[in-house]
Amino acid sequence: MTVAVTGGKGGTGKSTVAVNLAVALASTGYRVVLADLDVEGSVDHLLLKVGLKVVRPIKVPIPFIDYGGCTACEACTSVCDTGALVSVKGGKPFLIPRLCSGCGACFYVCRFGAIRRGWRVIGEVSAGKARFGDNALTLVSGRLREGEEHVAPAVVAAREEAISLAREEGADFLVIDTAAGTGIAVSQALSTADLVLAVTEPTPLGAHDLDAILELTSKLGVRTWVVVNKHGLAPENIVARVVSKYGVPVVARVPYSDEVVHAYVGGEPLVLREGSVAGQELRALASTVASIVSARGA
Ligand code: SF4
Ligand code: SF4
Repeated sequence: MTVAVTGGKGGTGKSTVAVNLAVALASTGYRVVLADLDVEGSVDHLLLKVGLKVVRPIKVPIPFIDYGGCTACEACTSVCDTGALVSVKGGKPFLIPRLCSGCGACFYVCRFGAIRRGWRVIGEVSAGKARFGDNALTLVSGRLREGEEHVAPAVVAAREEAISLAREEGADFLVIDTAAGTGIAVSQALSTADLVLAVTEPTPLGAHDLDAILELTSKLGVRTWVVVNKHGLAPENIVARVVSKYGVPVVARVPYSDEVVHAYVGGEPLVLREGSVAGQELRALASTVASIVSARGA
């Protein structure tokens, strides 16, 4: 079963929920793969204190121009919608590599065979094991190199690696910590999920982002539950209005407290902390998620 945890803007507690859900499920004996697809700000390995090893580079195709064969026809520059291929009027094109998304359109439109395909590394997929007592989970983490602009290829590469590892390990759960926002990289992650957990906070910005996520998941037709983080920080009427607009349930309320911050900084999952109120709420969330699998198996 694939559970995607998402949260609009950064800082809503999406990674805290994803990591604690994965740990809670793994610590009750489920086989779990956690995929950190927040490729511009991956932190799950820090929250779990996991050492990662690079599994493979993330590469995108890039054009190399044979200036001997180029006729300066400008077909490639006119098809390049990222502005990576540019030419001064009537001149031969040159490439700004950082802007190239690797879409490949220029390879196909060059009738003179003057573009060769090369590869450029834009990031890495890494993996590691988090262990707690007799249990463990596998973490797959995607990372986009600094200065790179194209998130989607990195998200896709990390997601494919996580899906393949989940299959190999016979995982009961693939938990996906999505990128921030509601862009193409996030919708790709959400579209493959059996369940989406939309994490929000009781603030106007949190409610605004929640509205955008719920609109997206309702269009995708994916089952969605809401988790309110920083519960108690402010009245929740604003979140309640959005939730009732889409008719989705709030399944957990993680209290606003210092222990959440301490656990975040200390790399200790809340669900493993004795007496933690937030940990108890997150363990209950994991039980609710697990009940879907039990119901399916029944
Ligand atoms: S499409 Fe080919 S021939 Fe035309 S400008 Fe580009 S590289 Fe040169
Ligand atoms: S691969 Fe796509 S983005 Fe890159 S230069 Fe060619 S057309 Fe532009």
